[in-house]
Amino acid sequence: MDLKLNFYDVCIVGGSIAGNYLCHLLSKTNLKIVVIEEHEKVGLPFQCAGIVSQKLSKLIDLPEEIILTRVSTAKLVTPSGKTIKLSGNEKPFIIDRIALDRLFYEKTRNRERIQYFLGEKFKSFQYIKDESNKILLVETSKRKLKARILIGCDGPFSSVGKIVGIKNNVIFASQIQVKGNFNQNEARLYFDPKWKELFGWIVPEGNGVFRIGLAASKNVARKFSLFTKNLKIDISKKIDKQGGIIPYGMMNKIAFNNVLLLGDSACQVKATTGGGIIMLLTSAKYASKCIIKCFKNNNFSKKFIKRNYENPCVSTVGKQIKIHYIIRSLLENFSVKDFDKFFQIIEENRVKDLISLFGDMDFPKDLILKLLLNPTIFIFLIKFMFTHPNIFIRLLKILTN
Ligand SMILES: Cc1cc2nc3c(=O)[nH]c(=O)nc-3n(C[C@H](O)[C@H](O)[C@H](O)COP(=O)(O)OP(=O)(O)OC[C@H]3O[C@@H](n4cnc5c(N)ncnc54)[C@H](O)[C@@H]3O)c2cc1C
Repeated sequence: MDLKLNFYDVCIVGGSIAGNYLCHLLSKTNLKIVVIEEHEKVGLPFQCAGIVSQKLSKLIDLPEEIILTRVSTAKLVTPSGKTIKLSGNEKPFIIDRIALDRLFYEKTRNRERIQYFLGEKFKSFQYIKDESNKILLVETSKRKLKARILIGCDGPFSSVGKIVGIKNNVIFASQIQVKGNFNQNEARLYFDPKWKELFGWIVPEGNGVFRIGLAASKNVARKFSLFTKNLKIDISKKIDKQGGIIPYGMMNKIAFNNVLLLGDSACQVKATTGGGIIMLLTSAKYASKCIIKCFKNNNFSKKFIKRNYENPCVSTVGKQIKIHYIIRSLLENFSVKDFDKFFQIIEENRVKDLISLFGDMDFPKDLILKLLLNPTIFIFLIKFMFTHPNIFIRLLKILTN
């Protein structure tokens, strides 16, 4: 074996929010860490609507300057133009996403035991023996290195995931930033069977600028153009334009021999909103505890990582991601009439009060249980299932997965 190869304890692939936050959590140990990021600049390209629940400030020490603004109302719009306004205790943050990605990078990049390789692409890894230990030989576009454990934080099309047999279903997003005259205190979500896998959005970022976007499984450019045309937005006046990919479905398997997946690579994303930040920050805390335990016990087996990382994730974020996916599977099959009927039920049956009281952007389980106890909603859903037996089978599959 080539002894000149640099040896790291931990190799993180991807220097975006998941990779940088995990690196920050592990920087409190004496582990030698390398982060490989294919882009030259951390945080770029910018690909996010940046709407994150208040939990963000509980999960991390959030500097004021990262919060661009906050919204107090969510306005939901049906395909026929009917609206409901939801407001409650939750006043989500609209964040400067580039600054969030850089926050933990700036905190750790000059630490003695931490090395960032920017502008360098992870290509592959293989298992090799080093004395009596199984370790990893990692190959990037510029070098080979050895590591004890590898973390795939490399997004929806994770190369690390591919090597361990994981592939995400994805949807595609298009977004512009543009000056507009919309309400600065509300986020608007436009539902439509044409973009059934998510919605169109208008999110204020302050100073009269709005992030206007849409995500769907195909023909996004055409759908986005239709969406902005309906909103009478002059795309030529855009300040900037972004694209992006969002994993879609339930959390993947995330534990493998000497390997973990975290963030979008693990599909730790809510299928109702496409939001992943709260889920991945929560999971990163489990990941860092697990990695520290692996070194303490000199155990990097799939079984050990499953017990100490995958299982805690499954019983917390995994369960909630499943509920988000169930909700999305229902919404995906709503017709224009179903949306109108459902919104009417929400408006007329004090359901809005329930949502205001128990609504949680990230962890919807309690609210869903309360909603199911509402007879009008319950009857609506039963009727819907009877007229769509395929959904019933799909939901059973999700529940038993
Ligand atoms: C348009 C859009 C809007 C969104 N809006 C919201 C929102 O409002 N709220 C919210 O919570 N979430 C939102 N999300 C989701 C959120 O952005 C993701 O959940 C989050 O970015 C996932 O972080 P990550 O670090 O896991 O992956 P990513 O942010 O995808 O980062 C992966 C990193 O890995 C690097 N990489 C990939 N392959 C390699 C390789 N082979 N070698 C080296 N480096 C590699 C990439 O360059 C990238 O830096 C949105 C996503 C999109 C696309």
